[in-house]
Amino acid sequence: MAGSHSLLDLTAHALAEEIEAGEVSAREAAEVANTRIGEVEDEINAFVTTTPGLALERAEAVDARNGGRNLWEGVPLVVKDVLSTRGVRTTCGSRILENFEPLYDASALRNFGDDLIVVGKANCDEFAMGSSTENSAYGPTRNPWDLGRVPGGSSGGSAAAVAAGEGWWALGTDTGGSVRQPAALCGIVGLKPTYGRVSRHGLIAFASSLDVVGPMTRDVRDGALLLQAIAGHDPRDSTSANVEVPDYLTNLEDGVEGLRIGVVPELMGEGIEPGVREVAERVASGLEGAGAEVGEASLPHSGYGLPAYYIIAPAEVSSNLARFDGVRYGLRVSADGVHEMYRKTREEGFGAEAKRRIMLGAYALSSGYYDAYYAQAQKVRTRIIEDFQAAFARYDVLLSPTAPTVAFEIGEKVDDPLAMYANDICAVPANLAGIPAISVPGGLSEGLPVGVQLMSDHFTEPTLLRAARATEQVADFRYQMKP
Ligand code: GLN
Repeated sequence: MAGSHSLLDLTAHALAEEIEAGEVSAREAAEVANTRIGEVEDEINAFVTTTPGLALERAEAVDARNGGRNLWEGVPLVVKDVLSTRGVRTTCGSRILENFEPLYDASALRNFGDDLIVVGKANCDEFAMGSSTENSAYGPTRNPWDLGRVPGGSSGGSAAAVAAGEGWWALGTDTGGSVRQPAALCGIVGLKPTYGRVSRHGLIAFASSLDVVGPMTRDVRDGALLLQAIAGHDPRDSTSANVEVPDYLTNLEDGVEGLRIGVVPELMGEGIEPGVREVAERVASGLEGAGAEVGEASLPHSGYGLPAYYIIAPAEVSSNLARFDGVRYGLRVSADGVHEMYRKTREEGFGAEAKRRIMLGAYALSSGYYDAYYAQAQKVRTRIIEDFQAAFARYDVLLSPTAPTVAFEIGEKVDDPLAMYANDICAVPANLAGIPAISVPGGLSEGLPVGVQLMSDHFTEPTLLRAARATEQVADFRYQMKP
């Protein structure tokens, strides 16, 4: 039987196999995670809520059900606090949902069964709006690589938990980079699947035309396994795709021989730190050395992605967040009359960034400005989709950095929304086009992890994962638990 320390060193798939073989119990795994959380959580603050008792109880139930279990069911999971979990409060990092307890699990979790072993709900920017996890009402999460720095965001708690070994794997959500960017800043793998590949039912909506649930893991194989667990059609989500789920693990080791990989010049230049660019370049030549045909793939409109995103996402926010009015969910601040109650509830319940987005969105959608902002942004979105179509006619996979910088200091950008938004420059084009993208650690710059982003065409996750696995092999980086 493996000792508790070696359990923490395992990848999720290795742990899953040991549990399957009966060498370790799910209960032992949950205990190890609970202990590690107890040791480091004061420093990291990766969780809004931890659920040690529930994890043990559910793990025992999973152990009792030997036979007919999915491979992944015994491995405890960290769940971003925007995904509904039955009986476990789900705050979205917001005061307005401080005491909200969903009645059901999000559909993305359904293949874990009723006994989903959740060790805790991961901290995040309020309603997933942000790139540093500083916009949480529950305090910032610290980057396990350097406690003075941010873990990225909005899924910063999920990324930090995996980097710190407070769990083997985590789910995040990616609307404009929120799985990939924190994965990059914390030295782990973050996969944003094709839009519609994973159900959004039970995911509390941020921007419904962009939101995707995705795995955050120690390595690419874990990402493939967790995608296998969460992918699939769901009649409860009308935007979920009725496309067969392939086996994401079979072709993982096939290598990149003959694969056409296009480096995106527009995402390698201005605004990208030299140390970050060097890592991306090194990985690209490594892939060429491994047999890929590497060339240049221009996305001429990608520079307009960021401004278009920061119209479209807030527009959808202004609509999606209208439901938090003190009537049906969460916080209610009593006042004289219903209008005053709405006003006070929203004023006290929402933080500064949520309010900023609601105002930006309402403005962009208002009559007189709709054509100038929202309609224009949708046209840009179409141009970006066409750019990708042209690029994928020549290349199987596109490559760029994931984020323009390594992890920055806590407090450095929090008062400068434009500087904060600029973090998403490489990430948002994939969201606007709905294509899958993954961040794989490529190496270090200034002693901090750098993520390399790969993108591929709709529903080609098997190719993307195969290229990502090869990237992991040529990269100058191996997962190491911090601090
Ligand atoms: N950082 C981006 C934003 O603030 C993306 C967030 C996300 O993907 N959830 O909107």
